[in-house]
Amino acid sequence: MLTAFLNVERCQPERCDRGICLARKHCPVKAIFQEGPRETPFLSGGMCNGCGKCVEACPMKAILMN
Ligand code: SF4
Ligand code: SF4
Repeated sequence: MLTAFLNVERCQPERCDRGICLARKHCPVKAIFQEGPRETPFLSGGMCNGCGKCVEACPMKAILMN
């Protein structure tokens, strides 16, 4: 099964919805965490079900599957 991971070098939260991670909003199992606006999110690969919705939602293409 594929698992999502975050490439932090590509992630630019300030370009998202007022600093709120768009990928986090779309994750059905809440595997993406963000401490606050403009903070770099954390993605828990162990919680990920491989649906790929975060990949589509991230405008910076910062989330990849492998
Ligand atoms: S949607 Fe993408 S660029 Fe925006 S904060 Fe989340 S991972 Fe980073
Ligand atoms: S692939 Fe699906 S389950 Fe995994 S982090 Fe992305 S949205 Fe969440």
